[in-house]
Amino acid sequence: IPVDPFDLVIFGGTGDLARRKILPGLFRRYRSGQMPDGSRIIGAARSDLDGAGYRKMIADAIAEFGGDEAGDQDCLSKFLTCLDYVPIDAKGTGGWSELAQLVRKDVVQAFYFSVAPSLFGDLAERLHTNGIASANSRIVVEKPFGRDLESARALNRTLATHFDESQIYRIDHYLGKETVQNLMAVRFGNVLFEPLWNNHYVDHIQITVAETVSVAGRGAYYDRSGAMRDMVQNHLMQLLCLIAMEPPSQFGADAVRDEKLKVIRALQPVDAHHIVRGQYDAGPDGKSYREDAENPRSFTESFIAMKCHIANWRWADVPFYLRTGKRLKARSSEITVVFKDLGHSIFEGDEARHRNILSIRLQPNEGMDLQVTIKEPGPGGMRLIDVPLDMTFADALGDKEVEVADAYERLIMDVIRGNQTLFMRGDEVEAAWRWTDPLIEGWEARNDVPKLYDAGSAGPEDAMMLMHRDNRRWRDIK
Ligand code: NAD
Repeated sequence: IPVDPFDLVIFGGTGDLARRKILPGLFRRYRSGQMPDGSRIIGAARSDLDGAGYRKMIADAIAEFGGDEAGDQDCLSKFLTCLDYVPIDAKGTGGWSELAQLVRKDVVQAFYFSVAPSLFGDLAERLHTNGIASANSRIVVEKPFGRDLESARALNRTLATHFDESQIYRIDHYLGKETVQNLMAVRFGNVLFEPLWNNHYVDHIQITVAETVSVAGRGAYYDRSGAMRDMVQNHLMQLLCLIAMEPPSQFGADAVRDEKLKVIRALQPVDAHHIVRGQYDAGPDGKSYREDAENPRSFTESFIAMKCHIANWRWADVPFYLRTGKRLKARSSEITVVFKDLGHSIFEGDEARHRNILSIRLQPNEGMDLQVTIKEPGPGGMRLIDVPLDMTFADALGDKEVEVADAYERLIMDVIRGNQTLFMRGDEVEAAWRWTDPLIEGWEARNDVPKLYDAGSAGPEDAMMLMHRDNRRWRDIK
């Protein structure tokens, strides 16, 4: 569905995120007819460029990161006419009056803060003192949203001085993924799953976000953060909320976010021996974490696995196992719901354990599959086997040419539409830090040393033990 023409100002418009994700994403939306002519994208950053220089930079970025569609030169030239640029220093005075002249008052205005969070306050203030922002403006902010509860609160307070919560869009690009939204459709749009979605039928839930990349290149930032702050506090907790929340009364922004908040508030403190922190070791094709982070004495985790509990009626005694790390054996993100064993098998000689397992893949090959038990075909009698009912979206929907849009472009279009459902609310972010802060403080106080793991593996042995102790096992990372 196309949106009305809009003005989008990207502070940090020359940065890595803008060039790699935001602008190639907007180009795809333009090409698909969703971003109408008459919309304007204004880059604003410190580099001393003019409009033509910026359009050249973005044409190059789209050629590099835009995929196959970047080859459509006609469309690209038209898209580039929507772009402009203003050199601006968030802390200075230059450029603001030029920006004020460019931004129209009679269309939706969105301001994307694709800069370090330390600049959010300056930007918010100058947008107001220069009369650029109005009550209709929207701002988009990126992670990291704080590094603990106190800093997140300070950021929320800064933004709240200038903008109402209904104007603030905190991006977590995991929420923009097709499968993540489909998770809600599957849960709340089918009669099959919701009756089973509780501690009577679910044995446990696993959430894995495995990456193959190292921290090289962003080691200085990462070493102050670690897997808990960089991945768990935001992405994994958002996934956990969607899988565990109660059905909202409607698919509206506050109804959904209220339910997610309740999940975070019901999360129990995690026992130290239910947390495994790891650091990757040097391998044949890469350096160790400490070398990549350029900190030979670093105790920061590049891997974390943990077992959590949600204290409410639905999930009492159902463990949620979370795991994420760098330099693992494959790039793969998956949520897995493992249902309980049948109480009794009527089939003679069937000693195997048959379980229904619903797995929701975020990457690669976004899709879902449900493991079901059937009779092994053939004349061999009543032998049971487990097979997947596979629903890879690209296969299932292929002939309809459904475009699986990238998370960023989908979320930016939601900003323009004014739909906050897939954005984190301030109180959610704070509640998430309220849960993670004591865990981080706990291991810092214990001087916990992360366990080394081989690059290209599934993480440290202790992470396997976390499951084995409970007579369960992680899904293979593939
Ligand atoms: P970057 O360093 O590549 O770019 C920073 C941008 O900010 C540049 O355009 C620069 O000109 C501009 N800038 C810096 N100081 C400024 C000032 N005083 N006034 C005006 N503009 C200024 O950074 P990035 O990787 O694009 O990341 C931007 C933000 O997004 C950061 O907060 C980062 O943590 C977050 N983020 C980035 C990614 C990513 O994939 N790159 C992913 C998630 C979140």
